[in-house]
Amino acid sequence: MSISAMRNMPSEVIEAVSLKSSPTLVTFESVFKTYDEQNWVVNDLDLTIHQGEFLSLLGPSGSGKTTTLMMLAGFDAPDRGRIMMDGEDISRLPAYRRDMGVVFQSYALFPHMTVAQNVEFPLKLRKVPASEMRAQAREALALAKLEGFEDRMPSQLSGGQQQRVALARALVYRPRLLLMDEPLGALDKALREHMQLELKAIHKQLGITFIYVTHDQDEAMTMSDRVAVFHHGKIAQIDRPEIIYNRPSSCFVANFLGETNLFAGSILDRVDGTARVRLDDDGSVHSAQCGGGESLPGSRVALAIRPENLSFARPSESAISAQVCDAVFHGPHCKLHMRTTAGTAVCMTFNPSAIGRAVPVPGESVRLAMPAPHALVLPPP
Ligand code: ADP
Ligand code: MG
Repeated sequence: MSISAMRNMPSEVIEAVSLKSSPTLVTFESVFKTYDEQNWVVNDLDLTIHQGEFLSLLGPSGSGKTTTLMMLAGFDAPDRGRIMMDGEDISRLPAYRRDMGVVFQSYALFPHMTVAQNVEFPLKLRKVPASEMRAQAREALALAKLEGFEDRMPSQLSGGQQQRVALARALVYRPRLLLMDEPLGALDKALREHMQLELKAIHKQLGITFIYVTHDQDEAMTMSDRVAVFHHGKIAQIDRPEIIYNRPSSCFVANFLGETNLFAGSILDRVDGTARVRLDDDGSVHSAQCGGGESLPGSRVALAIRPENLSFARPSESAISAQVCDAVFHGPHCKLHMRTTAGTAVCMTFNPSAIGRAVPVPGESVRLAMPAPHALVLPPP
C-alpha cells in the first residue's frame, strides 16, 4: 500500500491493518536492565516479535537497543521481567542453545582462518558431518555473494566483503532468528544502501526472523516490516514504517523520523477524530487529526506537520504567517526555511514547478496552510 493511500485512511482502518500479523515468536515481558544499580538502561520493556518479520530497533545512541539485543541473544540477562520464546522462558538460557545468529558492526572474523573456514566454523561446533558442512557453507557463501572468495583470508577482503562473511557465518546453520547490531555502520553510504537491499532480499528468500539494530531512520524505513522506536529504554512506538512516519504518537517520534514542524497550542473543540487547535504563535486556528488520546477543550497540545505537507494558503484559508529566511534548491524540490512572527522555526519542501507561483525569496512574508488530513495533534513535548 502506498503512503499516499495510507494518508487518506481513517485511523481505525490504519489500526486494523497494522494489527494483522503472523504468530508470536518472542515476547519481552516487563524487562528491566541496569549496569550501575541506579539507571534502568532497559526500563519496563514490553515487546512482541512476530515469526518471520523484519523488525528494526531504531533509536538514538544510548536508548538501550544493543542491551535489548544482547538479552535476546543470551549474552546478557534481564534484572527483572522475562523473555519468552514459543511459550518457554529463555531469560537464562545460554546463547548457544537459542538458535539465533548474530552479526555485529565489528565483523569479529577469525583472522587466521580462510573465508570458507570462518563460515564452516559454527557447523564444526555443531559436529555437522564434513560433506554436509561443505554443502551448507557453499549455500551460505552463495547467499552472501561470496563465491570465489572461499580461500581468501579476512585481511585480504574489503569491509563490505568481511561483513558478508560475518553474515554467511551467522546464517550457515539456518537459525530461527538473525540478530544484527548496526552491521553496516562501518561501510560507506553507497555500499550501505546496496547492502540494505540485499539484506531485505535475503530476508525474503529465507523467511526467518530478522532483528536489526540501527540509529539510522532511512535504514530502518528501507528494510523493515515494523520499526520499534526506542527512547530511554522503552519503546516509544512500534508499527509499520509508513504508520510511524504518518501517524507518530509523540513529538519525540515525529522528530526522530524525518523532519517535523511543531507548534504549541490549545484545543478549541473536537468532533470525533478532528480537533481545532489555536496556535500560541499568532492565534491562527487549524483543524488536525487526534490520535486515540483524550484532548478536551483547553488542553495544551503540539500540532505537528511534515515540511512536505505545508502549502501556500489561499486568501480565504486559515493560515499561519511566516517570514522566509532562506530558500534552498535540492534538484527536484525546494526547501524554505522560515520563522513565524513569534520566532518559531518552520520548514517547508515543495516542487517549485507545481506551486503555481514564484518561489518566495528571503525576507518575503508568506501564509502557510496546514491541510487537516496531514496535521496531527500530539501531547506536548
Ligand atoms: P544503544 O545501543 O541504544 O546505543 P546501549 O544499550 O548500548 O544503547 O546502552 C544503553 C546505556 O547503557 C548507555 O548509557 C550505555 O552507556 C550503558 N551501557 C551499555 N553497556 C554497558 C556496560 N556493559 N556497562 C555499563 N554501561 C553500559
Ligand atoms: Mg548500540
